Amino acid sequence: MERISWHQYFMAQTHLIALRSTCERLTVGATIVRDKRIIAGGYNGSVSGSAHCIDDGCYVIDNHCVRTVHAEMNAVLQCAKFGVPTDGSEIYVTHFPCLQCTKSIIQAGIKKVYYAKDYKNHPYAIELFGEAGVETEKIPLDDEALQLVHTLE
Ligand SMILES: [Zn+2]
Ligand SMILES: [Zn+2]
Repeated sequence: MERISWHQYFMAQTHLIALRSTCERLTVGATIVRDKRIIAGGYNGSVSGSAHCIDDGCYVIDNHCVRTVHAEMNAVLQCAKFGVPTDGSEIYVTHFPCLQCTKSIIQAGIKKVYYAKDYKNHPYAIELFGEAGVETEKIPLDDEALQLVHTLE
């Protein structure tokens, strides 16, 4: 039996949770991992209990949808809500983090960012990650990993 690699396992999980996104402008997923254990997940979505973009449309200001909490932030905030330390953890994301999420990732003590796709990789985000000693590595989701899921059927 072929086993899925750790990277592909966490990256597949990250893409799965992205499917829960409620904003159609960008479906994003994030998974926080510590010692090879998933400690939190998040997707691009509205504040709990509030209207969803997919139902009521996006709330656009300056060409950005302001309705949603970004996937990375949702994952970090889930840890805050339940009192789970993020210091020294790693995060898997479907897209390179935006500037706001970059700052939150650094501030949460996350030490490594694995991203599947480039997304407007902001030079200041790259600079901040560098200053903070947070490594970023591109790990595209592998079709072969998804094929393994079908072998379970
Ligand atoms: Zn939206
Ligand atoms: Zn973001």
